[in-house]
Amino acid sequence: MEVFRSIKDIKEHLSQLKKEKHSIGFVPTMGALHEGHLSLVSNAKQENSKVVVSIFVNPTQFNREEDLLKYPNREEEDLKMLNEVGCNIVFIPTKEGIYPSGVNTYTTFSFGSLEQIMEGKYRKGHFHGVALIVSKLFHIIQPDTAYFGQKDLQQYLIIKSLVNDLSFPLTLRCCSTVREESGLALSSRNLRLTNQERKVASNIYKQLTLAKNNILEKPETFKKPKSINTLKKSIINSLKQLETPVIVEYIEFFNLEKMELCQTISKPISVAICIAAIVNEVRLIDNLFIGDKII
Ligand code: AMP
Repeated sequence: MEVFRSIKDIKEHLSQLKKEKHSIGFVPTMGALHEGHLSLVSNAKQENSKVVVSIFVNPTQFNREEDLLKYPNREEEDLKMLNEVGCNIVFIPTKEGIYPSGVNTYTTFSFGSLEQIMEGKYRKGHFHGVALIVSKLFHIIQPDTAYFGQKDLQQYLIIKSLVNDLSFPLTLRCCSTVREESGLALSSRNLRLTNQERKVASNIYKQLTLAKNNILEKPETFKKPKSINTLKKSIINSLKQLETPVIVEYIEFFNLEKMELCQTISKPISVAICIAAIVNEVRLIDNLFIGDKII
């Protein structure tokens, strides 16, 4: 496994690999890796002859300075894990390399209605930062296929529109969310939770699963906005009443076909139930597909 920190060096290396007709799979990350990230690497390995993983804690996608400062740095462990799963190339650029003119760019990204909701609504400027870094990384790496996790569903949808709108010549894959046995979605932020908080946090997934089953069992009921609202309220209340309260920031149903929030559910169901919730200052997100997923 080779590690590159210089943009010039990795570009030279990759251009040689491309001359040798290697296919390049790319997994962008912010480090503090876990099995969720590694599953993206495994997917990339199955479909490509070389896999590149980037590790870069991107300052432009953090709307709270505090979150950026608290973001874990575990480079040594990350490299060990990547080596073990057979990653070929790791790219760890510097902030100066990625943002030579500073983080305030003239170019700004906006994604219309897609970023007025959920993560976009609660994390102003987040998707601008995501699109900026992903565009830069796509230009540097020029992958054949790039791999993202369903856990960050809205991010995936934003990147999908970025790739379509700007004609990036690559294929995107959305890989399933990897969970702890309890159901809690793996996240680098889980490192900030105590064991007890992690246990409590697994109720997020439990509530999403209950809601999903409820809808699939009696889909007719959810043709009315009232039923969706009652369901949302019951999830919010159940999570608030736990021994450590889980405070819901948003819970939304997103129609994957129409690409918008929905207040009712009708057949054919192609909806994701999406949640952001805070457990003792740690903000967690998760989502589940209901019905036939179409992404
Ligand atoms: P991050 O390092 O948090 O920016 O995540 C890098 C990539 O890993 C993103 O595409 C995430 O969606 C994906 N990812 C994070 N957690 C998980 C998980 N539990 N299962 C699958 N993919 C994940």
